[in-house]
Amino acid sequence: MIVYFNNRFIPKEEVKISPDDRGFLFADGVYEVIRSYDGKLFRVEDHLNRLERSLRELRIKGPDTKNFKTIADKLIQDNHMGNGDAALYIQITRGAATPRKHVFPDKETPPTVYAYAYPFQSPHEEWKKGIKVILVPDIRWTRCDIKSVGLLPNAMACQQARENGAGEAVFVRDGVITEGSHTNFCAIFDKELVTYPKSNYILAGITRKVVSEICRELNIPVREFPIFEKDIEKADECMVLGTTTEVMPVVQVNDHIVGDGKPGPLTMKLQQAFRERVT
Ligand code: PLP
Repeated sequence: MIVYFNNRFIPKEEVKISPDDRGFLFADGVYEVIRSYDGKLFRVEDHLNRLERSLRELRIKGPDTKNFKTIADKLIQDNHMGNGDAALYIQITRGAATPRKHVFPDKETPPTVYAYAYPFQSPHEEWKKGIKVILVPDIRWTRCDIKSVGLLPNAMACQQARENGAGEAVFVRDGVITEGSHTNFCAIFDKELVTYPKSNYILAGITRKVVSEICRELNIPVREFPIFEKDIEKADECMVLGTTTEVMPVVQVNDHIVGDGKPGPLTMKLQQAFRERVT
């Protein structure tokens, strides 16, 4: 596999990352995941704008994010993924610095930049049946708007979901559902789509943004408003949204069966409309 590493396209085996890298020592870095459908990147500008913002918020002096469009295209073509479904991973850390100190290193320290493309299978079966989610306490920091590589609470929550036969873990902060471990959460109440307001407590998902646009086109009202955990049993439908998940129906929340236990009609309409945009 050919990957991109610090300005070069090289075989993955040749990548060398210093043990002094702040990504390794402090999770001091940011990332993005972008889908490619039939060789075409989906909403790449939105993803690169978010990457730029994450870098800015953490004051990491990364490369010009606009270059990633060309880099991504080359990775997809050179690894023969131009005719299929693929995903692209980009990570930028504050670079390697010694001795290990919390304070930022010298301004001249070059960032560590890594990107690769990989074949991606969409979850077609789960899209049809829907998934169960579990609710877990949101133990994350209060800058969830930054796509940081510090994902331990997310990984722990996702593992807990797996061990409970669920497809996603959804965080609850102060009695309110915020978002999933790697998705945004939405519910339908009386034909209106409700999702947590864009804030520092969630990642502003690109899929969430696209689904909002679709809702506008289909005249489905969207309300950015907190959903209380205690009210989730009143939801007509639930779904989670993400780059690799797309529009995934949620048919069970903990022990509660959502609606009749099948993916809801509005959810399926949004899933279909989303598919039409990417295929
Ligand atoms: N929320 C979190 C915590 C995520 O990690 C992700 C994606 O990885 C999302 C939401 C969904 O964002 P997007 O639709 O841009 O993939």
